[in-house]
Amino acid sequence: MGGVDIRADRDLQTPAGLKRRIRCHFTGTVQGVGFRPFVYRLALAEGLAGFVLNRPDGVRAEVEGEVDALARFLKRVTGELPPLARIEHLARTELAPTGEEGFVIRTSTLGGSKSTLIPPDIATCEACERELFDPADRRYRYPFINCTNCGPRLTIIEDVPYDRGSTSMRAFPLCEACRCEYTDPFDRRFHAEPNACPVCGPSLTLLDATGEPLMTDDPLREAAALIREGYILAVKGLGGFHLCVDATKEMAVARLRRRKLREEKPLAIMVRNLDGAKALALIGEHEERLLTSPRRPIVLVRRREGAAVAPSVAPAMPDYGIMLPYTPLHHLLLAEGLEALVMTSANRSDEPICIDNHEAVSRLEGIADYFLVHNRAILVRCDDSIAACVGGAPRLLRRSRGHAPQPLGLPDDYPPVLALGAHLKACLCILRGRQAFFSPHVGDLETPLARDFLLENVALMQRISECIPETIACDLHPDYYTTRLAHTLASQGPEGGVNVVAVQHHHAHIAACLAENHISERVIGLAMDGTGYGSDGTVWGGEFLVADLGGFERAGHLLPFVLPGGELAVREPWRPAISLLKEALGEDWPVSAGRLEIVPEGVDSALVETLLARGINCPVTTSLGRLFDGVAAIVGRSRKMSFEGQAALGLEALARGAAAPLPWGILPGESLRLDWRPTIRALVEGRLKGRDPASLAAAFHATLIEAFTAVALEIRARTGIERAALSGGCFQNRRLLEGCLEAMTRAGLQVATHRQVPPGDGGIALGQAVVAAGRTRDRDAQTRRSR
Ligand code: ZN
Ligand code: ZN
Ligand code: FE
Repeated sequence: MGGVDIRADRDLQTPAGLKRRIRCHFTGTVQGVGFRPFVYRLALAEGLAGFVLNRPDGVRAEVEGEVDALARFLKRVTGELPPLARIEHLARTELAPTGEEGFVIRTSTLGGSKSTLIPPDIATCEACERELFDPADRRYRYPFINCTNCGPRLTIIEDVPYDRGSTSMRAFPLCEACRCEYTDPFDRRFHAEPNACPVCGPSLTLLDATGEPLMTDDPLREAAALIREGYILAVKGLGGFHLCVDATKEMAVARLRRRKLREEKPLAIMVRNLDGAKALALIGEHEERLLTSPRRPIVLVRRREGAAVAPSVAPAMPDYGIMLPYTPLHHLLLAEGLEALVMTSANRSDEPICIDNHEAVSRLEGIADYFLVHNRAILVRCDDSIAACVGGAPRLLRRSRGHAPQPLGLPDDYPPVLALGAHLKACLCILRGRQAFFSPHVGDLETPLARDFLLENVALMQRISECIPETIACDLHPDYYTTRLAHTLASQGPEGGVNVVAVQHHHAHIAACLAENHISERVIGLAMDGTGYGSDGTVWGGEFLVADLGGFERAGHLLPFVLPGGELAVREPWRPAISLLKEALGEDWPVSAGRLEIVPEGVDSALVETLLARGINCPVTTSLGRLFDGVAAIVGRSRKMSFEGQAALGLEALARGAAAPLPWGILPGESLRLDWRPTIRALVEGRLKGRDPASLAAAFHATLIEAFTAVALEIRARTGIERAALSGGCFQNRRLLEGCLEAMTRAGLQVATHRQVPPGDGGIALGQAVVAAGRTRDRDAQTRRSR
């Protein structure tokens, strides 16, 4: 983020009355955000001549006029920006005056490139919200009101460049009144591509469970009434359908869970306004900014005791996921006497969000009682983004609606790369020059529909980034769908033209953190997560890497343990638990396992003992995620889980107050091994002595923080590296992230963490991309040398 380079007032000290001409080149977020009309209005207001136009590399303006007017223009152009615009750099060049008269917005057809950045979808702005509830306004209660500062963008786009003709608004010819607004540079709706009104724009329909329209004058009021009665409604939103119920009605929420086959995973809540959010949760300054930002993510916030929300919304979780309304439709629904709505992506488990009306009716059969739909097509699926404030900074945990496809700036120029991500929380990333484009969140690639969605995204992202990749990056895991897809896509490209680069999972996590933080030197990387394919073919997940973008060494890791039952261990924390007990306690482990009632009823413990003793279906792992699961079971929580990471979340939720760390050790060697066996022994002893599980959970976190810091310092002593990077899904755990940040910083390390890129597998594609780009560059350099 370079500073704005303006020396407006200083170097324009020529006598008044003399004309000058200046070329301004603006870069940053200056396209699709009403920047050109803003420049136009300013130029007219200051009586300047010239033009403004969009270019692939930013916005260019030439302004000519009196010196004082020019100075005022330059001051105002940076000082009075439209809400969504941001200037990163303004380059000025002095030109000879041409005597031109009048100021125009030129059409941009420069350089053959149709590249203008596609903006993300933006929440209803305050001006539109006011009009929405103003009985005198021609768009009073119109659910599709929008302007240059707000409304759908990515989700209605078919192709670039972004203009009405290439969006799903093409189906709605502008009426006279809307056209006037659209063509008037002084109007807030000048070139607002989705501009619409009740006369010419989209409209709502209410459907019953079979997709038959209901006869009603006011589908929205009718829908709100049905929600108040406890029905489940599928509501068409910006990037897809939500399933929506009254969040205060336990019966309704419980029924939604049963029908959606979603046992315990927390459900997001939408409240009417900030006060509504404050009534349910503790909202700090950062949370407030996240909640009210035009990107409107779901924000994870600490719930208030006794908040008026049905228990089933987020059972046994300390946080609620809360968002504020981001479409006019949401505002109108909540204004119908609804305090809080459960708003969860409309899908069955592991499937992508529904976007099409017919698709919704058929895929949500047996789940939704009614459908509130409209006739503006959603062309791009885009789930809600998720954010939280951790360690005093806002952080994105899922980067999707409101962010996609806005690129992230990179410090380096990269060759074109497509990175496909891993297997869970899939999200892909394209590098083009100094920019990294993330796709909308795809999710776990467990179902054919999810895989189709990934393919949709590959096509979409290539189209809107206008990038034809020379390199496709994927995970090192040979059996991931994304790995196979990488090879398929490469084989469809020009012969020998596209190469596939497989990047080790945890290296990719650290590389993502480095790229996001513009770090090119070697760091001590802590990659902590559930599962990743290791270079040695075992399951890694508690890794201390000495890494840069070019490569890594495994400087340390958790002491390995086995996972009895393999994949089953992800959902059944007693499995890692008995493995940890066996390692920590030796032959006597079944006694303690019995006293702590680790093995659930109905499981033949003798059989499990035999399998464990013989090592049948017992893959080896260093996964911190599985260590968390096992410890949760030992501490007495989470016998069975309905989603990955639930036990770890539960353990974090359980932890209360400060607690002293438990014993742990480092086993020496070329690669350090963090020995958690003393910790397990202490936990077992604590349990048997009747120590409070909340304090044991806190002590376990404190142990990890102390041990991670010690291992990092040992690596610093060996290598002299002063910088650490924290990545991997386990760093979504606030207590762990905040603790590590604090302890490592105190020990004198510079610690890099994620903010704009998710720490989990949702951010891994960026790391894959930059590592693969580096390798491609090296390879190309080598071929050039050998010629
Ligand atoms: Zn607006
Ligand atoms: Zn109209
Ligand atoms: Fe991971």
